[in-house]
Amino acid sequence: MIIDGRKFSQEYTDKVLTPRCEVFKEKYNKVPKISTIIVGEDPASESYRRIREKFFAKICVDSYVIQLPEEITEKELLDIIDEQNNDDSIDGILVQLPLPKHMDEDKIIESISPDKDIEGLSPGNVYAWTKSSPNLIPATALGALALLKHYQIPIHGKHAVVVGRSMIIGKPIAHLLLREHATVTICHSRSKPLEKYTKDADIIIAAVGRTHLIQKGMVKKDVAIVDVGVNFEDGKLMGDTDFDDLKDDVAYISPVPGGSGPATVTMLASNLLLAFELKQAKDDINLQNCLREYYADYEAKGDKDPCI
Ligand code: NAP
Repeated sequence: MIIDGRKFSQEYTDKVLTPRCEVFKEKYNKVPKISTIIVGEDPASESYRRIREKFFAKICVDSYVIQLPEEITEKELLDIIDEQNNDDSIDGILVQLPLPKHMDEDKIIESISPDKDIEGLSPGNVYAWTKSSPNLIPATALGALALLKHYQIPIHGKHAVVVGRSMIIGKPIAHLLLREHATVTICHSRSKPLEKYTKDADIIIAAVGRTHLIQKGMVKKDVAIVDVGVNFEDGKLMGDTDFDDLKDDVAYISPVPGGSGPATVTMLASNLLLAFELKQAKDDINLQNCLREYYADYEAKGDKDPCI
């Protein structure tokens, strides 16, 4: 079966995101606002920006982009982030990665206020997701889990192999799968031979950035694969798995494009809505916990706000 990220995104948007934005307008007379900071010009980032902006417009999120020149200094960027942190009208800040080489990416990410860090990468948020507490979690990892859940793919007690160990995808998805009681193996460039691990997997999350790294013969027949990889070959977008070769031989597989990408944008918006609501509930710990649990469940639940 094909894991259709666009279909998931449409359903989650209709059932969860749009109705909740409607509730916000009615209840608070405002909508969540995101500030995206982009340094320099990169065609891949530009295409991701356009997709995000279109999506935010669809659910009536207030979004604006601060486009900065490549030569901007680290100090100037930190000052701009500081302004956004202190602007009470902004609920979420997104700094487009990768940044130019003369900048310390960790330092920049750490400077984003944890309450507005909708990428879930600042130290406080990382601590929360490694402790298995629901919070702002990197959107691509959330999206991969949301796809598995949407297709009711069993996770509990299964062997999940995550290929890739980055902070933005591999590590958070491994933690999310652990939280769902999978047994998790994390592979990376020194895991040789890779098929020794992938052949035993019930679930594979491919998050590497190498075209068709995972092929027929490396996986079991009943495996479920979420391909997060984004690779451009001769202008064509391709994943980390050989989709055409694998699709008739596995239980589930997500295509690239049309799989993980739409799920990522959807969960990024979901993070923004959570950040907005946590801000409204800032003096009420019970309500905050309730909201975190609600969004951690990832399932489309209908248009009723369970917490307010
Ligand atoms: P990254 O930081 O470069 O990490 C890649 C990981 O893959 C590393 O852990 C690396 O191992 C591992 N790796 C490299 N070659 C390998 C091999 N031959 N076998 C096994 N593991 C190998 O990349 P990332 O930021 O996590 O992104 C991964 C992919 O996701 C990229 O294609 C990126 O464009 C894509 N992406 C997709 C979305 C989406 O929404 N779908 C969002 C963001 C990024 P080492 O740690 O040993 O180097």
